[in-house]
Amino acid sequence: MTPVRALSVASEVFPLIKTGGLADVAGALPPALMAEGIETRTLVPGYPAVLGALGATDEVFALPGCYGGPARVLSGSVAGLDLFVLDAPHLFARPGNPYVMPDGTDWRDNVFRFAALGRVAAAIGQGAIPAFVPQVVHAHDWQAGLTHAFLHYSGRPQPGTIMTVHNLAYPGKFPQELLGEIGLPAHAFTMDGLEFYGGIGFLKAGLRFADRITTVSPTYAREIQEPDAGMGLDGLLRGRADVLRGILNGIDITEWNPATDPRIAKPFTIAQLADRAVNKAALQGRFDLPLRPDACLLGVVSRLSWQKGLDLLAANLPLILSEGMQLALLGSGEHELQEQYRAAAKSHPEQIGVVIGYDEDLAHLIQAGSDALVVPSRFEPCGLTQLCALRYGAVPIVAQVGGLADTVTDANEVTLAGTIATGVQFAPVTSNALADALRRAHLLFHDKPVWQKLQTTGMSVDVSWRTPARQYADLYREVARAP
Ligand code: ADP
Repeated sequence: MTPVRALSVASEVFPLIKTGGLADVAGALPPALMAEGIETRTLVPGYPAVLGALGATDEVFALPGCYGGPARVLSGSVAGLDLFVLDAPHLFARPGNPYVMPDGTDWRDNVFRFAALGRVAAAIGQGAIPAFVPQVVHAHDWQAGLTHAFLHYSGRPQPGTIMTVHNLAYPGKFPQELLGEIGLPAHAFTMDGLEFYGGIGFLKAGLRFADRITTVSPTYAREIQEPDAGMGLDGLLRGRADVLRGILNGIDITEWNPATDPRIAKPFTIAQLADRAVNKAALQGRFDLPLRPDACLLGVVSRLSWQKGLDLLAANLPLILSEGMQLALLGSGEHELQEQYRAAAKSHPEQIGVVIGYDEDLAHLIQAGSDALVVPSRFEPCGLTQLCALRYGAVPIVAQVGGLADTVTDANEVTLAGTIATGVQFAPVTSNALADALRRAHLLFHDKPVWQKLQTTGMSVDVSWRTPARQYADLYREVARAP
């Protein structure tokens, strides 16, 4: 097969900069695509964390005036990724979270920061870097959405284009008045163009003009065509259903490998499941919970936001206490939820352990040591933590939505008999339905052979990038075009 050159455009990429699953995908997909004959370069903003990680670089493109300052593109490789880094200090030389100021509000110039990303991506797509002229430009989420608008309105030949939605809840909406300053024509401001409920929609731009749209699970691809999950874009998505497809995410199975994981207390395999007990004890220790091998230890690794449904879990803390379960929660986000969980841990230190923050090492230990991982999301495009849980033998208890519905098989008589059950699902996404799921999981937990079967079946599921990479590679070949 002839190799295809692709430019991936993402505002975050693991292991350099990450706020969520988008970074994981942007970091793991290019190496997986390599095996499918796709040569990917990733364009990422030059935040301090990215520039600091780069070794030797070449300047491959310069843009003297880019929204109030000079910009250039550096080419370099780090962590197995071939990168183009958009070095524009006036836009990106800010440490910390890539989108928000230290006080938690959005950077006021986000419109220009991510217009710059799209504008440079489009330039590369149209041959600005002669040594790498992509046949496919693949933009991720709103931050990269304007790429496809710049390509479209340039009126020049363009490569094949793909827009991937990792989360439709973030539309990247900005005031109409900025259109000229961004450098797009006034006639782009129509319902058929960039107009999104009176503003400029970056994500809408990508969805409108890309040759193909993907999202990160088949169920979410269906859900976003309906008003409930469509975030005001369901009409557009229904209109483009013929080019919309759901491709499940994988996880990096080297990074997430219980047999070799240096971040956990004791590596283990499916054949030495008993060794998980060492991780469970370490996890209980880390959360100052009493070492109770027989208590069902629930784990959570999550942003604390409305989407993730952790208020529904909070409503079930009395149940967790009365059932004699334990909870180890790692997360950060909404102040109110953080305080609610902190208070619960303070009142019930023997059963509830809470770490507020972001901690990659601890996330691994939770997967290795908890008995079940709870993911009660109200909506979930794909979800990665349940995939890690499957791989680490933590039985997922998940809401029946989006990618959670597609990746976890609910334990019932039929699926248990057929040894295909891997977890517990609940619907609708309410605290009562979650309560039933917790009770059901707790009963299963006390039936040791059944629980072990759930664990080993889950650990045997292929959660790698192998199948998704093949599906993306097929898509790339469908759209590939010389610019
Ligand atoms: P989202 O991208 O919506 O936050 P995903 O499940 O797709 O949710 O991806 C979340 C990723 O971020 C996972 O890799 C998960 O392990 C990680 N993560 C989330 N919260 C934390 C945290 N507090 N500490 C460490 N890792 C976290």
